[in-house]
Amino acid sequence: MKTDPNCIFCKIVAGEIPCAELLADEAALAFVDIGPLAEGHTLLIPKAHYETLDQMPADLAASVLRHLPALAAAVKKATGCEAFNVLQNNGPLAHQVVPHVHFHIIPRSPGGRFQFNWPAGEYPEGRMQQLADAVRSHLT
Ligand code: 5GP
Ligand code: ZN
Repeated sequence: MKTDPNCIFCKIVAGEIPCAELLADEAALAFVDIGPLAEGHTLLIPKAHYETLDQMPADLAASVLRHLPALAAAVKKATGCEAFNVLQNNGPLAHQVVPHVHFHIIPRSPGGRFQFNWPAGEYPEGRMQQLADAVRSHLT
């Protein structure tokens, strides 16, 4: 399994740093985020060290993500939140601070601290199709 001795999440996986564990199996670990954006803020991670999601093998990603529905449902029930976001940051510009893939489950309640903008733009004629063609050409 890929691991990085300097990575804080690899240290949690190895049991060198404690965590409030929620679930674990051979591929995945979930625990409570130590710096919550809201009560019950949860992290789901692969046990193996991959920096960003695009580097992960698909079958490993599937083994981790299969836990998301039940984990989110449990967080929702335990916190009583009425909504939640799943957030996954890749790269410092996208606010990734810990370079080990992780999925945030962030409970949302009215008046919560965590807010974000959704500044939707629009495409000029033809640009959306151009982008679709470019992305498809890179899908294998
Ligand atoms: P990022 O900004 O990289 O997407 O999020 C990293 C998250 O990891 C942050 O929400 C931060 O609070 C959390 N975190 C960092 N170090 C630890 C730790 O040692 N234990 C736990 N439980 N969470 C951590
Ligand atoms: Zn790691």
